[in-house]
Amino acid sequence: MSGPRTVRTVLGDVEPAALGAVDAHDHLFLRSPVLPAPLDDEDAALDTLRAFRDLGGGALAQWTPFAMGRRPERLTALSRATGVHVIAATGLHQAVHYDPELLGRLRRGDTLAELFVAELTEGTVAGDDPDGARTGPRAGMIKVAGMFHALDDHTRWVMTAAARAHHATGAPIGIHHESGTAAVDVLGLLHGELGVPPGSLLLGHLNRFPDPGVHRELAAAGAYLAFDGPSRAHSATDPWLVGSLAALAEAGHASQLLLGADTTAPGAGPGASYLLRTLRPRLVRELGPAAADALFRTNPSRAFSAPWPG
Ligand SMILES: [Zn+2]
Repeated sequence: MSGPRTVRTVLGDVEPAALGAVDAHDHLFLRSPVLPAPLDDEDAALDTLRAFRDLGGGALAQWTPFAMGRRPERLTALSRATGVHVIAATGLHQAVHYDPELLGRLRRGDTLAELFVAELTEGTVAGDDPDGARTGPRAGMIKVAGMFHALDDHTRWVMTAAARAHHATGAPIGIHHESGTAAVDVLGLLHGELGVPPGSLLLGHLNRFPDPGVHRELAAAGAYLAFDGPSRAHSATDPWLVGSLAALAEAGHASQLLLGADTTAPGAGPGASYLLRTLRPRLVRELGPAAADALFRTNPSRAFSAPWPG
């Protein structure tokens, strides 16, 4: 893997600098038995992308993994209609989001890494059948998840497959941390044990666990730290968002910070537009224009780029 680094979007591979301002963690489509309501309204997704674009938004990464209603073929149409680059994900969330029968099938064949690689290099499956036709666009990232202050057998299995798929493709790995916890354990497994370079790890939801010491430890290891909020579902930690970013920038880690809206249900906002309309001017004031530009443009363009094979 030594080719030029590009970002794998649903419309093809693009130069990292082409992304523009990025919502580095969000969902246009998402379905789970444990979420209050599915995100599955294509008109709403179109409105979200248009509003984001009209504020200067250039790209959005949808962290919806395999078999959670990600509708990959519709992402292509939406990206084409709005001009916003969209990055789709493969990967697997916590076990609670899935039909046990589907997980049993994936376990029996032990083909999870192969599924991830195929979705990254050939195309995503349209529905929830891992052996279904790969009619969707290629995924540009792998989404995995930890548990609350821990990793369980399922999440270790998924992360091991994700690491194998990373080593085969160079794909970035985005991690859901439950309430922002267990990020040090995740880094220890994916980087320490499984050898994924920290620059390919996008540690999500750290805004939900505003512990400055943990943030500094993760940043010192070289990983990306994603602050994907505010959101109605996790509003208790919103007041720490800007302070956490400022502290990390002050400590010399401005080049490792990512921002996202992480909309998980209809009306769960404030959503992608909030990032540019409200948060960006605040960050320009608090961190300065150069750091704000890094958070919205330079960092995600680097974090999502990979030396894709072939
Ligand atoms: Zn998410």
